Amino acid sequence: MTRSYVIKPELGKTYPYISHGKGIYLYDQEGKRYIDGCGGAVTASIGHGVEEVAEAMYAQAQKVSFAYRSHFSSDAVEALGAKLAEWAPGSLNWTFFVSSGSEATETAQKIAIQYWQEKGRPTKNRIISRWMSYHGITMGALSMSGHVLRRKRFVPLLEDYPTISPPYPYRRPEGMSLSEYGLQCANELEAAILRVGADQVAAFIAEPVIGASGGAVVPPDGYFQRIREICDKYEVLFIADEVMTGVGRTGKTFGMDHWGVVPDLMTLGKGMSAGYTPMAATIVTDEIIETITQGSGLIMAGHTYSANPQSAAVSLAVLQYVEKHQLIEKSAEQGAYLLQRLEALAEELPLIGEARGLGMLCGLEFVRDKATKEAFPLSAGVASKVIAKSFEKGLIIYPAIGGLDGVAGDAIIVAPPLTITKSEIDELIAILREAILAVQQDLQ
Ligand code: PLP
Repeated sequence: MTRSYVIKPELGKTYPYISHGKGIYLYDQEGKRYIDGCGGAVTASIGHGVEEVAEAMYAQAQKVSFAYRSHFSSDAVEALGAKLAEWAPGSLNWTFFVSSGSEATETAQKIAIQYWQEKGRPTKNRIISRWMSYHGITMGALSMSGHVLRRKRFVPLLEDYPTISPPYPYRRPEGMSLSEYGLQCANELEAAILRVGADQVAAFIAEPVIGASGGAVVPPDGYFQRIREICDKYEVLFIADEVMTGVGRTGKTFGMDHWGVVPDLMTLGKGMSAGYTPMAATIVTDEIIETITQGSGLIMAGHTYSANPQSAAVSLAVLQYVEKHQLIEKSAEQGAYLLQRLEALAEELPLIGEARGLGMLCGLEFVRDKATKEAFPLSAGVASKVIAKSFEKGLIIYPAIGGLDGVAGDAIIVAPPLTITKSEIDELIAILREAILAVQQDLQ
């Protein structure tokens, strides 16, 4: 084998070299075909090899790829901003463009803090989050994240932000109704704000559906409505982290649309450019922009590649493709079928405690004992084994491991491109079933 000079996620491990992709399939250089059952990192939502996007990329590159945001705006960036303002609810009309989800959430964190400074209330500078959450890998974003395995090494360097429990319906107290449980979890936010002092709290951040740290954990109806009420009552901004859920992934344009809740700040990434270019966004309300405009007049954030015309043109082509092919509606429709097939697997296979999800963001949680919901120790590596076995058999799925304080959270995410057909879902399920059966046998 030729020597590699590239730093890989797991040092010392070898990876197949990618050759090309088409639709839901990826092909390596050995000619092996994989179903991209998780869009890489819940990203490739329109599938691979889409000609229209490649054409838009080429057309923009012929005009100009890069012009710095402090010097120029561009048709591409303005059209993308306008499209997002059209899609986003309420007065979420202003977009700050960045290149990754971590930058988007960290920019939201900074804008929230700056907003209160501009209002003359600088002590409102802490962010409350949930201990089962993932908002990104940079230090600010990680400070707001509960993902134990990703934070562990850096804890002494992170902001000591307060956290509350996430709603985790599968493991709710026995006998408690879903709505009662949702309210109980939401009310933890009020208790945390009172404990810390509302004059210290800038914002609360949450993912509509918990992704990487939980495996598609869907909150009870009523949860986010109550969260919104509490944020309003205590003048705390609400940041919806839609990096994974945005742009149709859950069967609505944005995850929060399921509950009709309008946040003050919203972050997007992943599906916003569907993997065709690094692109992400922090969208904020008129109120926030007016406050900063009347104050310092300068958003203290930004990166070299923020709002570059090349990425904007590509992202716009992706959003147009989503609209033209009605992929948000397809996500709801095919997602319901995917969940139905996963639920049937969960009924059949003792290893699966729960199948769950919303739209095309689904997950499976593995348990040692279905009746007691006893989790495997993370050292058993059950989800990792299912992922490795699936990969071997030509199916890529995404881990949601260790999001729960190292006790549970042995889950996977199944989130294929929104373009997937029913027969392709059947093909995906057949491979996944074989992989889980193989791991189940190894465990006996
Ligand atoms: N926020 C959420 C909800 C995510 O799922 C992720 C990535 O998984 C991020 C933020 C960070 O995005 P990125 O990996 O693009 O920095």
